[in-house]
Amino acid sequence: MDLSARLSPVLEIAGEHARDVDADGRFPSEAVAALRESGLLGLTLPVDVGGLGAGPHELVSVMSSLAGVCGSTAMIYLMHISAAMPIAVAPPPGMPKLLNQVADGSVLASLAFSEPGSRSHFWAPVSQARREGGDIQLQARKSWVTSAGHAEVYIASTRSVDTEGGVDLFALPADTAGVDVAGPWRGMGLRGNSSTPMTIDAQVPDSNRLGDGGSGFELMLQTVLPWFNLGNSAVSVGLSRAAVDAAIRHTSAVRLEHLDQSLSSLPTIRAQLAKMSIDLASTSAYLAETAGRLVEPQDDTMLYVLGVKAAANDAALRITDAAMRVCGGAAFSEHLQLDRFFRDARAGHVMAPTADVLYDFYGKAITNQPLF
Ligand SMILES: Cc1cc2nc3c(=O)[nH]c(=O)nc-3n(C[C@H](O)[C@H](O)[C@H](O)COP(=O)(O)OP(=O)(O)OC[C@H]3O[C@@H](n4cnc5c(N)ncnc54)[C@H](O)[C@@H]3O)c2cc1C
Repeated sequence: MDLSARLSPVLEIAGEHARDVDADGRFPSEAVAALRESGLLGLTLPVDVGGLGAGPHELVSVMSSLAGVCGSTAMIYLMHISAAMPIAVAPPPGMPKLLNQVADGSVLASLAFSEPGSRSHFWAPVSQARREGGDIQLQARKSWVTSAGHAEVYIASTRSVDTEGGVDLFALPADTAGVDVAGPWRGMGLRGNSSTPMTIDAQVPDSNRLGDGGSGFELMLQTVLPWFNLGNSAVSVGLSRAAVDAAIRHTSAVRLEHLDQSLSSLPTIRAQLAKMSIDLASTSAYLAETAGRLVEPQDDTMLYVLGVKAAANDAALRITDAAMRVCGGAAFSEHLQLDRFFRDARAGHVMAPTADVLYDFYGKAITNQPLF
């Protein structure tokens, strides 16, 4: 499997359109078409269902490279992977072709978890599924769904009909009657994501459920969370790396002619660049360590899964802020595209589980308190 041969054309197309995707707040259709074509939508899915059979390290590499050229495309890709993994673990029996379609790129998937009632506490949907006749009636307001109106399937959460206090996950084809995009959406960053609200008032066969009744919470925590946190951290690292590179390039190139030196010759600027670079290196190492622990699980794997996203999200805020600072007015005036990295980097921090929630979870974990 030559990942770089698959990835190169995607990076080229995503990079070509990144600026106007951001400026116009439009879905990056060209880059998503290239992703479908590349086979990378099936990156982490097993070979026997048409995937590439790759693992956490490859995901980090692809995701961070993509984020470095177009944050919106990277996050769309991440939501697809995060929806694909629970489908692989618990394929809905009523949709026997879904996993192959998600792997071969004919179906783009996303997660519809967040609700206005429980906000960033994605593990606690307040919508309640009901049984009507032989089917499930799913009624929910979803507050943010990346790729809404562009994905072919959404994995939606709801309180379970079968178990008191349990959660169910259902695969909802986008063309199901009663599944509606309630946009428009405008964000300060990741402006191409189409992360709009959705309303769901739809009849769904029981057989569209992933796993047994009430198994959704476990799927969210054991399957979605590790892949989402890993990939979200990789997006933060990709944006951070792009900001460090752009800042080094700019401060080395521009000159203070009256002093006959570059901006990077100023000790304060050099020190800022050094701090950004060290921050990036330590975050990348933490991310690689986490990926390794997902390949070969250890007792502290979950601790890494919790900690790495908070660390990478916060590092991205620090690094992109410092990059704006050292590049001064040139960054503020947009032509360096640093402002895009700065704005895009702020999304990861508030995407659930938010960095602050993760600090709380991590604190509970190391003091032997229950997470929920
Ligand atoms: C670009 C983008 C794309 C998204 N895509 C999707 C998607 O595809 N699918 C989906 O389901 N959702 C998606 N989301 C939603 C996301 O996961 C969160 O649900 C949403 O950002 C939460 O925003 P809120 O204002 O409702 O958070 P709130 O819950 O109101 O949080 C506000 C603040 O309170 C803090 N806070 C909350 N609880 C605690 C706690 N226990 N301890 C400490 N601090 C706490 C939070 O960290 C945050 O800083 C997306 C969000 C963004 C920004």
